[in-house]
Amino acid sequence: MSDYQINTKCVQGGYTPGNGEPRQIPIVQSTTFKYATSEDMGKLFDLEASGYFYTRLQNPTNDYVAAKICELEGGTAAMLTSSGQAANFYAIFNIANCGDHIVASSTIYGGTYNLFHVTMRKMGIDFTFVEPDCSDEELEAAFRPNTKAVFGETIANPALTVLDIQRFAKAAHAHGVPLIMDNTFATPVNCRPFEWGCDIVTHSTTKYMDGHGAAVGGAIVDSGNFDWMAHAEKFPGLTTPDDSYHGITYAEKFGQAGAFITKCTAQLMRDFGSIQSPQNAFLLNLGLESLHVRMARHCENGLAVARFLKDHPKVSFVTYPGLEGDKYYEVAKKYMPNGTCGVVSFGVKGGRKAAETFMKHLKLAAIETHVADARTCCLHPASATHRQMNDQELAAAGITPDLVRMSCGIEDAADLIADIEQALEAV
Ligand SMILES: *Cc1c(COP(=O)(O)O)cnc(C)c1O
Repeated sequence: MSDYQINTKCVQGGYTPGNGEPRQIPIVQSTTFKYATSEDMGKLFDLEASGYFYTRLQNPTNDYVAAKICELEGGTAAMLTSSGQAANFYAIFNIANCGDHIVASSTIYGGTYNLFHVTMRKMGIDFTFVEPDCSDEELEAAFRPNTKAVFGETIANPALTVLDIQRFAKAAHAHGVPLIMDNTFATPVNCRPFEWGCDIVTHSTTKYMDGHGAAVGGAIVDSGNFDWMAHAEKFPGLTTPDDSYHGITYAEKFGQAGAFITKCTAQLMRDFGSIQSPQNAFLLNLGLESLHVRMARHCENGLAVARFLKDHPKVSFVTYPGLEGDKYYEVAKKYMPNGTCGVVSFGVKGGRKAAETFMKHLKLAAIETHVADARTCCLHPASATHRQMNDQELAAAGITPDLVRMSCGIEDAADLIADIEQALEAV
């Protein structure tokens, strides 16, 4: 599949049926797999042979879908997780232990920020957050001898900042650590971070990949480009024997291409068990089959809505990285020349009350705590996710009281704009 264009990979990647086998990927709804002898199974437990024995570790349906996402990103190995939260937790925890440190972009998804700033700190892992637009000196100053990775989002949810991937990859590599990027909003259709030096990609497949608001899920993909052995002292989990697998050294046995995902599956999935159900993986694959078609429409609608809002007298500002003049327009053009995403943020003149009035009058766009779905939805953070904050606290979080976040779906742009227009009239 590697020679095909991304559009073809979306449709046919990951699974090639043999003669007489099902055309659609089979849902292997089984916790366990049968073997003829204990020796056969023993080899699987020792990671001496590859095969299935228990769905918490691996399942064929999940593997087909992980293989497709791997091809889309241009990686060497991938795995599915139960959610995007699990994917980001595993990706970091696979290489950072108690006493270690991570440099992360400050404009990341709120759930990821909580995971890092509160929960993983309790586990003894420290984080330094840097602005995505920080100077090279500020970025450099964030590193410590115990830093194990750099983390950021290609397009940040909900800030819509675009990370300069090459700059962050260069800084990470200068310190002998990988760059991990959450590519949920751009998707591999619009941005492939490995082509710009990123080492590991994560996804909340709950968003555009599924695309229909049907199944929560996540994925981790390894580029196979990071040389763990060259920085062996920093990554003992990959470069020294694992006692729980009879002394296997992942980076030796599975090489650069397979070590990260094999360890993540064999240790973290075994011990934490955040698996994606095969049923959900099947639904995710249905979404992936049309990802390339949907992303084009999401971006077309996002841009049309952003352009309409920009010229509207009742709108105080518009943030959309695909819009000419946006702060991130140039960097977005470089890393995602075919489009960014369908999420647009804007302000309704008149503050909190005006934004609430606007939202109340929308007919097509539903009010939801969700984004990146085929159906247009929107959220007023000041009266929903951030409602406990006063205006000063909102400002500190980078949110204005009048901010509305709209996730443009794949409906007709004319209908979306007409809906926004009539709701603005009511303000
Ligand atoms: C939603 C989201 C997550 C969390 O994913 P879940 O599937 O909800 O656990 C992580 N990162 C980004 C960028 C997201 O948008």
